[in-house]
Amino acid sequence: MNKKPIGICHICGQTKELTFEHLPPRSTGNKGNIKCYDHDDLLQAYLSGKQPLTSCKYSQSQGGYQLATICENCNNTMGSYYVRSYTDFSKSMVSALKAIDSKKINTIIEFDCTIRPLNFYKQVASIFCSVLEPETVSMLGLGDFVLDKTTSTPKGKDFNIYMYLVPIDSCSRHTTAITYTKIDTITHLTVAEFISPPFGFILNLSPSSVLSTKLYDISSFRNYTYGQIETIRISSLFLKPMELFFSFEGVNINDLIVY
Ligand SMILES: [Zn+2]
Repeated sequence: MNKKPIGICHICGQTKELTFEHLPPRSTGNKGNIKCYDHDDLLQAYLSGKQPLTSCKYSQSQGGYQLATICENCNNTMGSYYVRSYTDFSKSMVSALKAIDSKKINTIIEFDCTIRPLNFYKQVASIFCSVLEPETVSMLGLGDFVLDKTTSTPKGKDFNIYMYLVPIDSCSRHTTAITYTKIDTITHLTVAEFISPPFGFILNLSPSSVLSTKLYDISSFRNYTYGQIETIRISSLFLKPMELFFSFEGVNINDLIVY
């Protein structure tokens, strides 16, 4: 049993005992034995021409991927407000993707989906609360945004969240906010990424820069009310992610300067 650490809860901002929360929720299937790699190790291996997943050290973890970044109160609140909606949509997408031919990888695929859009969006926002630094969460107003289930607009710096779909056997990964320069356009991008099949999410802190028109911007999910169920058409890039960040079409690591 892991001892609970003391730290700043990324959601409420209080210094408290932190609990290990599953990212994504355990109910999506995040509960098996996993191998955890360090992102910098993978990057160094990749840049030196090695196969990252076979050449890097890893630690084993039981019970799925978990981080201790939020307190028990906030963890329970997220669980009661949003987890079911996220899990329902995740499971429906897993079923849908099982029927998709692998030849569809790197193409746009479309589904009519039944979803609670605001609930789902807020669960994604709560995941980014956990993986981003507390200062970034505060700057974006994400903590207050997820603690109030009805509010539709975070009171902080503007951002948007893109979603894409990944094959269900893809590796999971996340990065905190990193700034890149896209060389061909000299565009500065600051993004964070969270991938866990069937979804990949990119939080773009430079919303005036469109990352790719093929990514599905889920910011419109904020236009719904809490608990509202809708059938909407999802038109999304279906992408096999690399082990490293920035796998979506049009941008690869050789085109970027990483700060
Ligand atoms: Zn808290």
